[in-house]
Amino acid sequence: MKAAYQKEGLLIVVSGPSGVGKGTVCSALRKRMPELTYSVSATTRAPREGEKEGVNYFFKTVPEFKKMIENDELIEWAQYVGNYYGTPRRFVEETLKEGKDILLEIEVQGALQVKQRFPDGIFVFLLPPTMEELKKRILYRGTETEESLASRLGVAEDEFKHIHHYDYVVINDVVEQACERIQAIITAEHCRKDRL
Ligand code: 5GP
Repeated sequence: MKAAYQKEGLLIVVSGPSGVGKGTVCSALRKRMPELTYSVSATTRAPREGEKEGVNYFFKTVPEFKKMIENDELIEWAQYVGNYYGTPRRFVEETLKEGKDILLEIEVQGALQVKQRFPDGIFVFLLPPTMEELKKRILYRGTETEESLASRLGVAEDEFKHIHHYDYVVINDVVEQACERIQAIITAEHCRKDRL
């Protein structure tokens, strides 16, 4: 139950380079912390097998997505590998007002925009144990040619340059350990005296 003196919920952003395992860590975190509300993003990419509208994403056409940008319906948006991705504003704002915590799993450009608008958010950067391991994880997805692997690794190197904008860094070596750390961060943030 929410204590009477606790105001808004916490906005938690988990971000990091492509291939680091944001999706895997966030799914495990949601199982571990069912009280966390998850922000479902809008995207123009096609649904993958098994993905459901409103559960994994809100699937949009490019004109629909552009309309959302024009109407200021997104907290942030970014283009990633030729598709648009963005976080719907209203759901995030309403969840926070209700005093509930909300989790955003987004890439780095978007996270930096959220930081501008929600400076009190908690920004967690996921790191691979090594660059070699990141390369393996990208390759393991099986969709990368030599060229696109090189470009993804190049993007990842650029993304590392923004690490100083984040509050916390968590190494994703063993998924459950990474989750434990993020859970500990959330617990500690709830106990900060300046959040009273
Ligand atoms: P995927 O197409 O594999 O589901 O996601 C591609 C990338 O887009 C991932 O790095 C994911 O974290 C990121 N992403 C998902 N939703 C959003 C969003 O709403 N905003 C931003 N900026 N990135 C997102």
